[in-house]
Amino acid sequence: MAFVRVPRDGVPVTQAKDVALDPSLGKRFTLKTDVVVVGSGAAGSMVAYEMAKAGRDVLVLESGRYYPSSEFTEHLGDTMTKIYQDQVGQVNTTADIIFVQGACVGGSTVVGACVMEEPGDKVLDGWAEKYGLDALSAEKFRPYLDKVAEELQIHTNEAHEINACAHKVIQGCEKMQFSWKPAQRNVKQCALTGHCLAGCPSDRKMSSLVTHLPWASAYGARIFSDTEVIRVKTLDGRARGVEARIVDPDSGAHVADMNVDADMVVLAAGGIHTPLILQRSQVPDRSGQLGRNLAIQPFTQVLGKFKEPLYGFRGALVGVQVDEFTHTDGYTIFSGLAEPESLLAQGDMKAGQAHIEFMKDYKYYAGVNAFSKDLGNGYVKWDGDAYSGSKTIHYNPSREEFENMKASAALAARIFFSGGAEKVYLPTFQSLQANSVFELDEKMDKVDYGIKGMYTFRSNSFSPHGTCRMGADPYESVVSPTGEMHDTPGLFVADASLLPESMSAPIQWTVHALAKYVSDQINNNASNYFIS
Ligand SMILES: Cc1cc2nc3c(=O)[nH]c(=O)nc-3n(C[C@H](O)[C@H](O)[C@H](O)COP(=O)(O)OP(=O)(O)OC[C@H]3O[C@@H](n4cnc5c(N)ncnc54)[C@H](O)[C@@H]3O)c2cc1C
Repeated sequence: MAFVRVPRDGVPVTQAKDVALDPSLGKRFTLKTDVVVVGSGAAGSMVAYEMAKAGRDVLVLESGRYYPSSEFTEHLGDTMTKIYQDQVGQVNTTADIIFVQGACVGGSTVVGACVMEEPGDKVLDGWAEKYGLDALSAEKFRPYLDKVAEELQIHTNEAHEINACAHKVIQGCEKMQFSWKPAQRNVKQCALTGHCLAGCPSDRKMSSLVTHLPWASAYGARIFSDTEVIRVKTLDGRARGVEARIVDPDSGAHVADMNVDADMVVLAAGGIHTPLILQRSQVPDRSGQLGRNLAIQPFTQVLGKFKEPLYGFRGALVGVQVDEFTHTDGYTIFSGLAEPESLLAQGDMKAGQAHIEFMKDYKYYAGVNAFSKDLGNGYVKWDGDAYSGSKTIHYNPSREEFENMKASAALAARIFFSGGAEKVYLPTFQSLQANSVFELDEKMDKVDYGIKGMYTFRSNSFSPHGTCRMGADPYESVVSPTGEMHDTPGLFVADASLLPESMSAPIQWTVHALAKYVSDQINNNASNYFIS
């Protein structure tokens, strides 16, 4: 690899304030480029890097703001209001599942929890067979995953990265004879502060902010923040660029409209926003699957209170993973932390004196996180005009999915009791607590299915995916096996939307590898897309 100079103090990014202060641009301006990449997260940053490295002129447009690492304070409250999608208020229609996503230069990788897991061979070979995705078979796709592991410095947690919460999970598992293993993470010499979700101020987290974006920019890629792509432009059925609007994130002022003329458009706005851009653009979709098959990987957190002080807010955010049920039932349980913000957001949210009493026992709490598998039945929809309409996320779990969520949370609670917890706080809005393992089933029974039930259960989705399913059959899938939309030449999708079906493993590693694969498809067939 040629030597490239990476700027020492962050990534060069053109922000709304720069556009506002540049009189040569005005209120409406046009940029020309070979490739416009929409979104700068796991997928967008990878595509930008691979395409720029191959000598293409690359323009990256990111709707979120630019937040350099030096500005991270390790206070989630600061970060949530600045660089999370809708300030963590992005919910489904029944407002009982929060869709948590990063919205900034670097996307969700900037606020991610760093847990890295590869898809198993069975999953990859299943996609190859079921969706005609031969290139994603374990044998052919694994080199992409290996390359990502190298670039993101993915490693298995060492002993010092296994904190007190994780030790409680280990003790519980050993007693119950459940299989567990140290988690893998993309962190270089972790400082063990436990504030990953607030952004890493010391650049130890190998997020796109410190890996593929600076690398792409060193090869000449231009990055704009505060720039929301509204729709893809087409000419004679071929993608020719995008329309975007630039808004100042602090004042909300509409700074300018940007028009981009490009030979190719690559959408990497994530599992929710990529299909919305495509719906706004009214591109053809023979399959009728655009925006459908939304898989969410529902997540809940259980808190345990232990006899001895654990200081469960210290250490690596995730230490170990319980893999006993991953392949049989799709439940994966990770040790977590019990940080002040998560105690507020996930734990017992009593107010006033009761809350003070709860927080007095701060050092005795530990957290454990339960993910369950879903059937991928949700959908996202854009209603109204492209500029002034609105999004809706439809996700109402079936009875089976709901029972999966409950079962994974109950298992997490059981592990904590076996690890010595004297009380667990269940992830419901009813303030349900169990004082022993014998009370657990009775308490869990109080969490009902249905509108009433779902309002009592607290769930999040950190990894929405599947909404532009990839596959060989244009009547079953939105995107072809090369990443190009079946019916719109020059329009590619590279992000979590591509995943052909719901995954139970954390998806970031797979998303990076898929984006690398899509970039290869473009670069290997460059003569079909670019004039020179
Ligand atoms: C708090 C948190 C913790 C997580 N922890 C883990 C973990 O430990 N392990 C794991 O595997 N996964 C984790 N994930 C999930 C993982 O980060 C995502 O699956 C992955 O980043 C998805 O990549 P992506 O490129 O599809 O989307 P993203 O990385 O989300 O990037 C999409 C980008 O597109 C931008 N965008 C959206 N709309 C537009 C538009 N119209 N115009 C321009 N830009 C737009 C967004 O602002 C965003 O920056 C976590 C996610 C979150 C939010």
